[in-house]
Amino acid sequence: MIEEGALLDRVALVRERIARAAERAGRDPAAVTLVAVSKTVPLAAVTVVYRAGITHLGENRVQEAAEKFAAFRPAGLTLHLIGHLQRNKARKAAALFDIVQAVDSLALAETLSQACRERPAPLPVLVEVNLAGEESKFGVSGDEALPLLRGMLALPGLIPQGLMTVAPLVTDAEAVRPVFRDLRRLRDRCQDALGVPLPHLSMGMTNDFEVAIAEGATLVRIGRAIFGERA
Ligand SMILES: *Cc1c(COP(=O)(O)O)cnc(C)c1O
Repeated sequence: MIEEGALLDRVALVRERIARAAERAGRDPAAVTLVAVSKTVPLAAVTVVYRAGITHLGENRVQEAAEKFAAFRPAGLTLHLIGHLQRNKARKAAALFDIVQAVDSLALAETLSQACRERPAPLPVLVEVNLAGEESKFGVSGDEALPLLRGMLALPGLIPQGLMTVAPLVTDAEAVRPVFRDLRRLRDRCQDALGVPLPHLSMGMTNDFEVAIAEGATLVRIGRAIFGERA
């Protein structure tokens, strides 16, 4: 059973918190896109938030997303791959997703580039950076981001649009503010060095999205604050 009323209340609350965080930072709330993370969430709940106007959805597994969105893919829905992508799933990902957020090697970028030959339009991609250097997380180091972006710019079919990170899980979101600030500074340096726009900073999840917005997030990936705790 989907509790539609509770779901819609949570969507409204998250939107309000995003708007307030943007305003506090002197930013236009429209510059922050809410990506509702629907991993493990049944399609019935996804359609409820879509009808409430949420048009950006994030999934972290290619196979789960393929099954979920086989029957529900309205025009105007933007599907983000936010999880680690294995090279052997690149073809499927290039066919299914509108943006791939977690590119973390040139080998993967090359495979995706080839897979994009079958796409009608180039694929927007972000580089996942593991700024805290956590062993358990995917992503390149801060030093590797610029060379990877440079390599990706030379590949047909891909449009590098910025950086993504998953901050360490902490109880006090303020503790990860330096991670978000460092990602923004790294993006600025890459943009200057490459001379191309890198408009997107994908950072901020349920526990820390307001701090991420204060530090310049343009894409916030929010699961539990919308859909409730995952089973
Ligand atoms: C699950 C997930 C999220 C959403 O996390 P919540 O804490 O539920 O908001 C965001 N980004 C990535 C990469 C995820 O895997």
